[in-house]
Amino acid sequence: MKVFGKIEELRKALKELKNEGKSIGLVPTMGALHQGHAALVKQAIETNDYVVCSIFVNPIQFNNEGDLKAYPRTTAQDHALLETLGCQLVFQPDAKEMYPKAPNLSIGFGALEKPMEGAFRSGHFNGVGLVVSKLFNIVAPTNAYFGQKDLQQYQIINNLVETLNFDIKLVCVPIVREKNGLAISSRNQRLNPSELDTASNLYKALQLAGEAFNQNKPIGIIKDEVAEFLCKFPAINLEYLEIVDKNTLESLKELHQINEVAICIAAYIGEVRLIDNIILKK
Ligand code: AMP
Repeated sequence: MKVFGKIEELRKALKELKNEGKSIGLVPTMGALHQGHAALVKQAIETNDYVVCSIFVNPIQFNNEGDLKAYPRTTAQDHALLETLGCQLVFQPDAKEMYPKAPNLSIGFGALEKPMEGAFRSGHFNGVGLVVSKLFNIVAPTNAYFGQKDLQQYQIINNLVETLNFDIKLVCVPIVREKNGLAISSRNQRLNPSELDTASNLYKALQLAGEAFNQNKPIGIIKDEVAEFLCKFPAINLEYLEIVDKNTLESLKELHQINEVAICIAAYIGEVRLIDNIILKK
């Protein structure tokens, strides 16, 4: 496994592989790798000749300085996991390499970034859009892998690929969970054992909402039932529970025939902000 810190060196290595007609899979991450990331890498390895995993804690997508500082950085373990998985290339630039100057380009995603993460994390998707565009231009992969866990991010990147004609196939990988249902996240490392236990109720809340949705209960009632359930856990501070069209992310006001619905949740456990979602098919 080769680790690259410099854009030009990675480009040179990839050029040789592409000249040999090899396909390249890209898995963008912020490190602190876990079994969720591993699922993306495994899938990438299955379908591509070579896989690049990028590790970059992108400062411009954080709207909270404390969150950026506290973001776990575990390079040695990350490399060990990637090596075990059989990933051949790691791209791990520093912030100067990615942003020699503060970027003045900004990207907006209209209605896609209005709800949920976009509403609560100002500037977040501009930062995501810029860094992913840069990674796509640097690596020019055949396929790129993203997690359903960040559903809104996936839809936004899908929009970016369509709008800017990136010649890249996107793959959305299902959420990997702990045994108790908690969606695996790098931020879980910041929770103590009792908080980890409490956090599993976010998935229970999603399941509860899903059952109510399948029983055709009105959206308002579903939200009330979830709020009532979460009240039992004072350590959980709910930010939003949204029931949206999985593709447009448009908030559903009432139940109507729609193919795929996503129920999305964001909540704080102490200082740590977690997100999760489930997708339901009608
Ligand atoms: P991050 O390092 O948190 O930016 O995540 C990098 C990629 O891994 C993103 O596309 C995430 O959606 C994906 N990811 C994170 N956690 C999980 C998980 N539990 N299951 C599947 N994919 C995940």
